Amino acid sequence: MAPAAAHEPEVIRDKAAMRAWSRRRRAEGKAVALVPTMGFLHEGHLSLVSAAVAAAAGPVAVVVSIYVNPSQFAPTEDLATYPSDFAGDLGKLAATGAVAAVFCPPDLYVRGSAGHPAAGASGGAVSCLEDAGGHAHETWVRVEQLEKGLCGSSRPVFFRGVATVVAKLFNIVEPDIAVFGKKDYQQWRVICRMVRDLDFAIKIIGSEIVREADGLAMSSRNVHLSCEEREKALSISRSLVNARTAALNGNNHSQQIKDQIVQTLEEAGGQVDYVEVVEQESLTPVKRIDRPAVICVAAWFGKVRLIDNIEIQTTS
Ligand code: AMP
Repeated sequence: MAPAAAHEPEVIRDKAAMRAWSRRRRAEGKAVALVPTMGFLHEGHLSLVSAAVAAAAGPVAVVVSIYVNPSQFAPTEDLATYPSDFAGDLGKLAATGAVAAVFCPPDLYVRGSAGHPAAGASGGAVSCLEDAGGHAHETWVRVEQLEKGLCGSSRPVFFRGVATVVAKLFNIVEPDIAVFGKKDYQQWRVICRMVRDLDFAIKIIGSEIVREADGLAMSSRNVHLSCEEREKALSISRSLVNARTAALNGNNHSQQIKDQIVQTLEEAGGQVDYVEVVEQESLTPVKRIDRPAVICVAAWFGKVRLIDNIEIQTTS
């Protein structure tokens, strides 16, 4: 007897089959919980599965989607080198014993003709979707204020792509619950706002960041760091923890905090994309940390762009 086989997730590739599967689970009286990912799974992703189970009041069917979404990558970004290991991912999900289905569509977009003016070789394409002939797709979800700033400044099509693909996944999977990591803090807030503004009847869970023992936030992209770069990248989490300690001890001027973090990251050899201190919900910059805030960082170490953040809850 192989008890683990009972927990092998069902692999679903087709949109209509996915929707039908979800409806059957709901007819059985189960809530459906969705964990959207781009694969190359690590403990951070698996923690979202646990959070999905914990969020459900009763019986739940957890669906993990694995889809590297071309519309959130600019043609200059790392879509082509984004790591993948589908067999490994399936093994990890099966080992949790908590995942009922894995949704891994070959493509989620309707593709158009190659003769479109924006077609091919990045000629005017704003994302890898247009670049690869995705011209038949022209409907986008934009969360207009929250998508600006932070990652939105250096990745102008990123949140358009994220909000749109998550809306598509919500329409295909029809979940009751969806879980996102606070590692991608702005993404989580963008999705919360989209759900509120567009009346999706879905409970969104924000789940805490999972870190390596030495503090590095887990990320699929960490695999591209050399040992040396990885060591240097620890400056991100260390500077964030130091900043929080300082803020809670009264050194709460955002500019000083940002300057200190930038200095630490640059001394470690990182190239800073941004360091910002913002309100937790609106993501608007704050001058002092005198209300719940979050410090968000994006920095390059070698060819890898890493993001991280730390929440600070103040009472004063
Ligand atoms: P990704 O596969 O990178 O698109 O991530 C899929 C989901 O996993 C997103 O909601 C991420 O925020 C979440 N996630 C990624 N890394 C972590 C982490 N270290 N801790 C918690 N959640 C994470």
